[in-house]
Amino acid sequence: MVEKFDAIVIGAGPSGNAAAYTLAKQGLNVLQLERGEYPGAKNVQGGIMYAAELEKIIPDFREDCPTERHIIEQRVWLLGDDNYIGTNYRSEAFNSDKPNRYTIIRANIDKWFSEKIREAGGLQICETTVTELIRDASGKVIGVRTDREGGEIHADVVIMADGVNALLARRTGFQQELAPQNVALAVKEILFIDPELIQQRFGLKDEEGVVIEIMGKVTKGMVGTAFLYTNKESLTIGIGCLISDFKEGAIPPYKMLEDLKNHPVIKPLIEGAEMKEYAAHMIPEGGYKAVPQLYGDGWMVVGDAAHFNNAAHREGSNLAMASGRMAAETVIELKQAGKPFNAANLAAYKKKLDDSFIMKDLKKYRNLPGIMHENKQFFGAYPDTLTAAAHSWFTVDSVDKRTKEKEIMKSFVKKRSIMGLVGDAIKLVRAVR
Ligand code: FAD
Repeated sequence: MVEKFDAIVIGAGPSGNAAAYTLAKQGLNVLQLERGEYPGAKNVQGGIMYAAELEKIIPDFREDCPTERHIIEQRVWLLGDDNYIGTNYRSEAFNSDKPNRYTIIRANIDKWFSEKIREAGGLQICETTVTELIRDASGKVIGVRTDREGGEIHADVVIMADGVNALLARRTGFQQELAPQNVALAVKEILFIDPELIQQRFGLKDEEGVVIEIMGKVTKGMVGTAFLYTNKESLTIGIGCLISDFKEGAIPPYKMLEDLKNHPVIKPLIEGAEMKEYAAHMIPEGGYKAVPQLYGDGWMVVGDAAHFNNAAHREGSNLAMASGRMAAETVIELKQAGKPFNAANLAAYKKKLDDSFIMKDLKKYRNLPGIMHENKQFFGAYPDTLTAAAHSWFTVDSVDKRTKEKEIMKSFVKKRSIMGLVGDAIKLVRAVR
């Protein structure tokens, strides 16, 4: 006799955990399957965790959630060869008793979240890979097959939260192959360092934290970004670029990370730190136009597997948690109404997504990935020219300011031409409106 659940959730990342917890909390019979040895074993994140979405799912999460530092300052830096220009935003308001963002170590968070699911009554089995979706004669998904012996399990609905590769949806024909221009490859290291050094170097006290988002010469003209985050006793540093660019480029990701660590502006911040962990992972960055079919007869897809990632704002885990919660709420509502889990009824999940920040934000930035992919000047010519302009402007050398202005303008026109500059400005507006 094949075992049957109300719902099966595949994956124990933020999207799967949000779905499984929401279902279990409402008393549904939920099974969560995770291929890793434990939840978080396979997972990689920068990582910043945004409180708002977790708070909707577990309102008192701050009581025991193993966060690192709460973020009080955001820096955005454009790196040149040996310099940077940037902006900082720091606020005491972020020191409230309910901070808005935290740095995290993903493995710790995933383990904690999974514990909550078990406490809520969810059944979680690790070291189990779902190999296939099972469908009935009409094509409706009715369960999953796993790599365990006799591993066929049935459910009213299957929620795929299996991350960016979304292998199950692809194998079943629900999704197309990932296009290399829609996926970034990111590499990161966690570097152990004395917490006192973190506080001195970043101007912090207690558990305050800083995040630095980085663009510019370090991505060697490829579409990509880098980051440096402060944890309690470590720093996380990473860099990622589109796979399509890595394919063409001469530089491998690990070398790019080494160059970032040795950049004259970054090096003093991480000096003396020891590498604790190295990881590489993909990030879905195709945006709105890459979002696949999100539901069908007996199935829904959430999180990275649904391509929910806002690369412009480096948000992924919050979209993952929100979509997991919305998929679970759809299941709960249908269950309570005694309705079948067919595509027509599961369309309610898409409606929730459309009404939320997830689809609204992805739609706002729908042109961004294409424009960035086709206009590499934003990652090469501009960082170069802008940092050189800043250097000229802030060097006091008896050259009068009007002459400096003219020289700076000339340097931009030389790199891009007047028409090029106007065109780029229009493209930037189109990319973010
Ligand atoms: P995942 O976290 O990938 O989880 C999928 C889970 O499914 C995994 O546990 C996997 O083992 C399991 N699984 C896969 N296939 C199977 C299978 N067949 N059977 C069973 N289990 C399976 N987001 C932020 O919000 N802030 C950040 O600072 C940030 N930084 C990032 C930095 C890097 C370097 C990377 C790579 C990503 C970053 N993200 C960040 C994005 C964020 O990590 C993802 O958006 C988020 O993890 C997506 O969650 P998910 O649950 O959908 O997928």
